[in-house]
Amino acid sequence: MNLDFTLTKYKELCETILDSGYSIYSLKAYFSLQNETEKFVIIRHDIDDEIDLINSLKIAEIESDLGIKATYYFRTTNRVFKKDVIKKIAEMGHEIGYHYETLGKTDGDIDLAFKLFIDELENFRTLCPIKTIAQHGGPLKGDQSAASFSGLFNIIINLMFKTKNLDSWLSKDIWKQYNFADLGILGEAYLSIDYNKIAYFTDTNRIWNDPKYRMKDFAEGKSNINIVINCTDDLIKIIKNKSVNKIVITTHPSNWKSNLAQWVSWLVLQKIRNYGKKILIMSNKSKSVKGS
Ligand SMILES: [Zn+2]
Repeated sequence: MNLDFTLTKYKELCETILDSGYSIYSLKAYFSLQNETEKFVIIRHDIDDEIDLINSLKIAEIESDLGIKATYYFRTTNRVFKKDVIKKIAEMGHEIGYHYETLGKTDGDIDLAFKLFIDELENFRTLCPIKTIAQHGGPLKGDQSAASFSGLFNIIINLMFKTKNLDSWLSKDIWKQYNFADLGILGEAYLSIDYNKIAYFTDTNRIWNDPKYRMKDFAEGKSNINIVINCTDDLIKIIKNKSVNKIVITTHPSNWKSNLAQWVSWLVLQKIRNYGKKILIMSNKSKSVKGS
């Protein structure tokens, strides 16, 4: 059976990238390059909730066995900021990055958001070096989790009474006023890559390249505007044919399953989540700080 979004399929994607002669970079490696190779893939994983966290170790092992070093962006929420997992992934040679959302946490107060960013960054740096960052794009504040049916039910109940649980801010707007380089950060995954030259593919919402359900996970650029990807096999084909030379791939490890029961229940959950996101997108466009 050729199922999509399995760990086996993810491994096949990695092997295809390697066999097709592409270099693979973490974000830190990419930002540190003097000269980039002609063909490369930058691999990034966003650890948004506890299911991502559990699967992150499996994905990190697959990559490590293949000699790949990728970037893992961790949020600082209680469900995700687990020192033992972060350390294990770092020990495998992967880069750990900071998946920040401080403008949402401070309800759009940019000065407070910057201060909070510094505090959280310092906390991260007690574990390992942090050289790159990526804005978190999920619509929910803090430790709310839509990674299970019961979590989803709680969120629906909460939203009926308190819209304050939503984060509609673009945290990368902090950098309109402040400079992350002053904090020893080499780059931001959305802001420091030229997506006019490098194609961006993300599995956000368990759908490749369909922005209909995405709230903030957009790379501004036109390099993959005409590329249609319906499944991981389409991405594998693009890489095998070498039809795109420069690529960023973002995954959420929770999307990649190793058994059929989990695979089916995740598919159903994602469909419900996507329906909810569509309603949120219609009712609540992302906010931006003044002057933007
Ligand atoms: Zn995220």
